[in-house]
Amino acid sequence: MADAEPSVTVAAAGGAGLAGALAAAPLQDYLEQLHAALAPIADGALADYIPELTRADPAWFGIALATVDGHVYQAGDSRLPFTVQSISKAIAYGLALEDRGLDAVLAKIGVEPTGEAFNSISLEPGTGRPLNPMINAGAIATTALVRDDETPALERLLATFARYAGRAMDIDEAVFASERETGHRNRAIAHLLRGYGILECSPEVATDLYFRQCSIRVTARDLALMGACIANGGVNPVTGVVALRRRYVDKVLSVMSSCGMYDYSGGWVFNVGMPAKSGVGGGIMAVLPGQFGLGVFSPLLDAKGNSVRGIKACERISQDFGLHMFNVARATSATVLRRSYDCRRVRSRRERSAAERAVLAQQGGCVRVYELQGELVFGSAESVELTMLADLAHAQALVIDMKRVVAVGAAAARLLLRLAERVGDSGKRLYFTGTMHLYGFRRLLQKAGGAGSAEWLRFDDTDRAIETCEQQIVDVAGVAAATVDGDDLHAHYLCAGLADADLAAVRAAGSERRYPPGAPVLAVGDAAQSFFFVLSGEAEAWLLADTGVARADRRLRLTTLGPGTVFGEIGILDREQRTANVSAVTALTCLEVPFDALDAGIRERMLANMARHFAGMLRENAELVGHLA
Ligand code: GLN
Repeated sequence: MADAEPSVTVAAAGGAGLAGALAAAPLQDYLEQLHAALAPIADGALADYIPELTRADPAWFGIALATVDGHVYQAGDSRLPFTVQSISKAIAYGLALEDRGLDAVLAKIGVEPTGEAFNSISLEPGTGRPLNPMINAGAIATTALVRDDETPALERLLATFARYAGRAMDIDEAVFASERETGHRNRAIAHLLRGYGILECSPEVATDLYFRQCSIRVTARDLALMGACIANGGVNPVTGVVALRRRYVDKVLSVMSSCGMYDYSGGWVFNVGMPAKSGVGGGIMAVLPGQFGLGVFSPLLDAKGNSVRGIKACERISQDFGLHMFNVARATSATVLRRSYDCRRVRSRRERSAAERAVLAQQGGCVRVYELQGELVFGSAESVELTMLADLAHAQALVIDMKRVVAVGAAAARLLLRLAERVGDSGKRLYFTGTMHLYGFRRLLQKAGGAGSAEWLRFDDTDRAIETCEQQIVDVAGVAAATVDGDDLHAHYLCAGLADADLAAVRAAGSERRYPPGAPVLAVGDAAQSFFFVLSGEAEAWLLADTGVARADRRLRLTTLGPGTVFGEIGILDREQRTANVSAVTALTCLEVPFDALDAGIRERMLANMARHFAGMLRENAELVGHLA
């Protein structure tokens, strides 16, 4: 008990004070006040059937809460070690499921609550199968299923606990010895299980391992983190390590919620509404799926073997914050649809001629873009899909940007697949962008969609997808970029109003440059001494995205430049350094003109053209911002 943390002493808050404090105080203050309010409760008794447990101090009381973001709040004796006892049953059950698979485990242990005490001999008539893994009979059978090969089962159990708690774990040898000496009832249960063939090993080996598992030392803080792993889909929110494979998380939670508090399980779900597991050491680990894990420790137990202050603390936290697991927020399109727009107003970063812009302003409504965010689950995917289907009546192409989606549930993935198929059947197009991190979703589309799926996943970059959709509109309208003759300097905005003789002077001052596809033209930091008219081909201005994440393509496209466009001209204003990279996309021909080679009259004219051009861009941007806000 050396690393015990002093109890937080805060003036005891009455019931009303506590509720009042909720609005103003952060969670830390709340837990400290709750601790102070419940500490005086002295009901209950220490477990005495394991003699060593009577050495506990009835005053010990710790609370800890760990969120799925990895924040831990704690009050009181939250770092005081005690034996995990029956809470280990939930952890061992998860490990047995991983080791043997669902069917093999179900063949030996059922999932029905007993309504009886934890040490009841509740075996299925005929088969001898323990009714559930949270009573001792089922837990002994579960522990015996933990693989015991290259790595001994005990080591595997300890390593599993370490993954949950994020630290190495050990056993309280005194408690272990004490239980081994006195655990005759558990031994009797193990022999019965052996008689029925549920146990395949010797009953002594099984109970020994089970007693050791029950004697693993934990703290309330550990229990909170362990619960947070389960709340977080099996992943430890602090270390990122997988503590429990995702596919078994709902199985472990199920038995916790139906059987975790022994013969108080029904009342517990009713009053607290969080899957939980308690132990006679005085611990309770509760889980609010998707949100947090809660660990409470106080060794005074009620008649059913549950911690008295532990139950009270969980009840209060649940009631004060309305945390019952069935209080589920509506998951609708409002939460996952970040924004949606069409290409009349928001266009790709490709530079467009006035004619092209006019066509897009008129017809861009048939390309619709949806930016989704957060976790797509059945409800939210369904409602956002209804929106998309309604839009589809007028749209030709849908771009669904999923870069901010953190996870796609199986049901949501299937709904999106159906949507993609529907859109395909109607001869329209659909692209999912930003899906690189959504492996499962991509795999589903690739498997189910056959050849079509390559098209659905063709672009990772939303801007590219939008550009492709725009291009189709422009092509159909017959205002191809070919209407711009880059070679005719009149076509470049910078030269508007220049006399023919001036144009000839500009041309004479410049030199024609040719670049193969991909070749660099300008790099960030280069001295800015000239500007470029694009005569033919295509160039791209770009920056390296500083995402902090290693990505294959960190290039962020600023704009694509075609014939009739100019780049590098801002240098006329400040003559400093290039602020973007430019490279050729296709074979590119430019006229590079040094600023100093132009006479003052021409430069002045060009400056006026730039001022007008940028004013127009500012105005367009202001409209855009208004539109997006
Ligand atoms: N080791 C204890 C036993 O088997 C665990 C019981 C419990 O925590 N409820 O009796």
